[in-house]
Amino acid sequence: MKMIKTLVAALAVGMAAMTWQANADDKGLIGIAMPTKSSLRWISDGDSLKKSLEEKGYTVDLQYAEDDIPNQLAQIENMVTKGAKALIVASIDGTTLSDVLQKAHDSGAKVIAYDRLIRQSGNVDYYTTFDNFQVGVLQANSILQGLGYPEKQGPFNIELFGGSPDDNNAFFFYDGAMSVFQPLIDKGVLVVKSGQMGMEKVGTLRWDAAVAQARMDNILSANYSDGSRVDAVLAPYDGLSRGIISSLRGVGYGTADQPWPIISGQDAETPSVKAIIAGEQYSTVFKDTRELAKVTADLVDKVLSGGTPEGLDEKTYNNGVKVVPSILLVPVSVDKSNYEKIVVDSGYIKAEDLK
Ligand code: BGC
Repeated sequence: MKMIKTLVAALAVGMAAMTWQANADDKGLIGIAMPTKSSLRWISDGDSLKKSLEEKGYTVDLQYAEDDIPNQLAQIENMVTKGAKALIVASIDGTTLSDVLQKAHDSGAKVIAYDRLIRQSGNVDYYTTFDNFQVGVLQANSILQGLGYPEKQGPFNIELFGGSPDDNNAFFFYDGAMSVFQPLIDKGVLVVKSGQMGMEKVGTLRWDAAVAQARMDNILSANYSDGSRVDAVLAPYDGLSRGIISSLRGVGYGTADQPWPIISGQDAETPSVKAIIAGEQYSTVFKDTRELAKVTADLVDKVLSGGTPEGLDEKTYNNGVKVVPSILLVPVSVDKSNYEKIVVDSGYIKAEDLK
């Protein structure tokens, strides 16, 4: 009996210790500000970040702003007011956050620009992203592969689309792609029949598929009504690729007589991987957002625990005020030949969701 009593007492002490332990493990609030739920990738980023941080003992406030800048500002302000120790921000417009980030800095919070660089603020501590220039290089190279270059020498008609001009990434994607395309445009292998080149002409505000679709409609009617065909389209994001595909379908592409142009993309979103399997889209770029979330959560935890992160890129991303120390992950080109290995076998998309 005595032994049982001792055992019960020991258990009670143990449980009390566990409860205390749980409280002591509450490491504070982290605010996560995501741009929109309209794209699957940001939903996946938000979920993965929340999970990783909660596993480390943090409380998480995860907010989506539906691509509305004042909404995102208000959400971040609220996180600062609630005493967030760190803010993880995937900005809608990377130049609009200076005031709220000053408040965050004054309150002692650490600020991490997530995937998209926050510009014109000295109060950005770190940046975690992928090699965005390389994303554009991969898109361009996969288009060339789809066109059969260099065995086939063209000339090929290509049209160019860029991302949102208020997103720093859009310029890196475009510049990466043009580093491959420009010499071939100069040689006459690639022809931009519309003549529309440069981010000021090809940018797509807020990454909006409807905007890309309308621009493609205009390009087709103004430049391709003479029976000539579009052989390729540089599209920087799967959502835009889907808008462009709708536009092309509207004028008869996607048949034996008028096959699809070679169209790129980014993010390996489920509907677009399906479009790749169906032969409508040629390729996408897979960026493992689970990995980005993990390295970001590890970084936050390290910094908040007083550690110093190592191995950061200290030269690539100048935000207009400072070079922001960055972690750059590696993007991977995906097409019909490797989607199973890259996105299905890795568990990013379930095989049954692609049926
Ligand atoms: C991201 C891309 C994404 C795009 C549109 C960019 O900032 O890096 O992965 O396709 O935003 O959401």
